[in-house]
Amino acid sequence: MGNAAGQVPKAIFVIVDGIPADVLEIVATPNLDAISAVGGYTRAYVGGAIDTPSESPTVSAVGYMSLLTGTWANKHNVWNNYILKPDYDYWDIFRLAKAHDESLETAIFSTWTDNRTKLIGDGLQRAGGNKLDYYFDGFEKDTERFPHDSAKNHLQQIDDLVATEAARYIRENGPALSWVYLEHTDAVGHQHGDSPEMTQAIELMDNRIGLLWTAVTSRQIEHGEDWLLIVTTDHGRDLRTGKNHGGQSERERTIWIVTNHDELKESFYLSPGIVDIMPSIATHINLAIPPHIAKALDGQSFIK
Ligand SMILES: [Zn+2]
Repeated sequence: MGNAAGQVPKAIFVIVDGIPADVLEIVATPNLDAISAVGGYTRAYVGGAIDTPSESPTVSAVGYMSLLTGTWANKHNVWNNYILKPDYDYWDIFRLAKAHDESLETAIFSTWTDNRTKLIGDGLQRAGGNKLDYYFDGFEKDTERFPHDSAKNHLQQIDDLVATEAARYIRENGPALSWVYLEHTDAVGHQHGDSPEMTQAIELMDNRIGLLWTAVTSRQIEHGEDWLLIVTTDHGRDLRTGKNHGGQSERERTIWIVTNHDELKESFYLSPGIVDIMPSIATHINLAIPPHIAKALDGQSFIK
């Protein structure tokens, strides 16, 4: 289920930081369009349910952890970007994969190292003790190679490096489960808000997605594998300037999801939550979810 008979199912999810749905929809993104033409595009949401215990700040790391664990912040306990005390009892998708089958190859390609070291808790005993098989991150800490400047051009360069390496690695090795994280769009959003600069940053992002899409399609053709690709963002931005986020306004809560999967449930088009992505990936790559983890999930698969 979720994958074509006889073909090895694989999955890659991509988070491109802080791109409001209304902006994405008016910028030319030929690569995202090519992916959604095969599968689909939808608006979605972050932030949990307003005025309930699951209400979660529309902040980056909070959203990533919601995607990784299929739960809101009142469970995974990441409330800001400091990631002080994640509750690893809510397993992330990589831990699920390793618990299901240790031989499943996992990889992360990221412009922010904390995604691996803190959210996934790579190698930490209390996070399960597993290690990712391959990681490519840490460049934002290398200020000699990537001098930080106020325009955040280093993030543009690092995103290019990360996306290029992800495409190479995926094409050559075809890991079962990969996460690609790209940050430049959020930095431009904070600096310029709704602006020509943001439009250009989104176009650059789309080029990077094109590299990944080419890698995925080449795996499908050359190796007969059945790939799920999901691209999403972690929050919108405020209505007035497009610079800020963190609150519960409609625009900050509204995200979007693009996928190449062509067997989508109706629920995909009915504003799914970011928490629905993890169970969808699990469905596609046939992960058995232990009952105590399944019971705690806030999300449901939007893949048949
Ligand atoms: Zn963000």
